[in-house]
Amino acid sequence: MRFKTALKVDLGILRDNYQKIKLLAPGCQLLFVIKSNAYGLGMVPLVSFACKQLAIQSFGCASLGEAVYLRHALPDLEFDLFVLSDLDLEMDGGIDYYLSKRIIPVISSLQKLRWILEKKNCKHLKICLKLDTGMNRLGVKAAELEEVITLLKRNQLHQIYHLMSHFSCSSKRIDFSNANDRSVKQYALYKQMKQRLLDAGIDIINSSIANSGAIEQGLGLEENYIRPGLLMYGLSALDPFARTDIYAKKWNGQNVSALETNIIESYSIKKNDPIGYGAFPAPNDGILVYLALGYGDGILNKYHNTQFYHRGHWGRFVGKISMDMSAVLFPAESEKMIKVGDNVSFWDHRQESLLTIADQNDVIPYEILCNISDRVPRIYIGS
Ligand SMILES: *Cc1c(COP(=O)(O)O)cnc(C)c1O
Repeated sequence: MRFKTALKVDLGILRDNYQKIKLLAPGCQLLFVIKSNAYGLGMVPLVSFACKQLAIQSFGCASLGEAVYLRHALPDLEFDLFVLSDLDLEMDGGIDYYLSKRIIPVISSLQKLRWILEKKNCKHLKICLKLDTGMNRLGVKAAELEEVITLLKRNQLHQIYHLMSHFSCSSKRIDFSNANDRSVKQYALYKQMKQRLLDAGIDIINSSIANSGAIEQGLGLEENYIRPGLLMYGLSALDPFARTDIYAKKWNGQNVSALETNIIESYSIKKNDPIGYGAFPAPNDGILVYLALGYGDGILNKYHNTQFYHRGHWGRFVGKISMDMSAVLFPAESEKMIKVGDNVSFWDHRQESLLTIADQNDVIPYEILCNISDRVPRIYIGS
């Protein structure tokens, strides 16, 4: 555990992002995606805040384990809880968890649907069906839809509680005028499959397809739900090209989290002096600063290109990142401005701050957030 190195999580910013999303998708309710411990920010405090303060009623986990953990942690709150991918249906007692904890499995294949319908007590489950509209990940395919309808009817089920699909390329610029654009095509197929279910006499209570990238660009907003993850945490899900594209809607939220650390050592170093493991030669003279952040905190060696702005000067990671610390080289003239004990933000609440780390190192912001380890305390402010 650390003290000064901490992930600050500002719930006031979460509220602002929620309101900004509501402006982008008026009329849509949110299924807030909180898998992987709310993208590393901490799912229990975030769900508690989102449910009580923002009146969000639906949340999506990845696994049954996450869902059960959340129900145990927040036993008094009422909300729909979906398991998006790792259902553990066949596990001993797996199905009982769904029934007793009011957890909704997102059914993503004919085989799973059959399996669920064969269990007697499963009549009490809310049916959430996922359609594969071209991603080839999870979901019932168009060619299987008739069999889905037959199965539902044979079991006297005339209602789907939530119908879903997922975009594979919504982080890329969507060309709305092109019927062959991958996202446009996916949405068209989704509507077609949905219509077929309705025509067959199956009621669809709720439906959703838009993840963050689609919400930013305005696709899939005709459904009554949207499923944002990254956007709620404040970061654009668009790739660097689409993000600066004038056609893409500009997301102006703020990053809910800020990763703060401090300087544990600093001294001047000469060009070619060896630095740390592997004796990496200093690229030039300067002030070498050690931060209390390493791969044990989730700062991976692949972030080696990261630049830092601190008290008016730019520094850059040099050499290997250690388990507990990392070296940053600042220009020699920054000497007077840099002191042991100084607070440094690896990223702050400005979106660009984390997105620049991602872009410079060719990683996605999701990975950076999910990697921050348990050693880094999460500190919640702004509630
Ligand atoms: C992760 C996930 C989302 C959220 O994706 P973002 O890009 O973070 O908005 C939505 N739906 C499903 C099924 C997911 O797995």
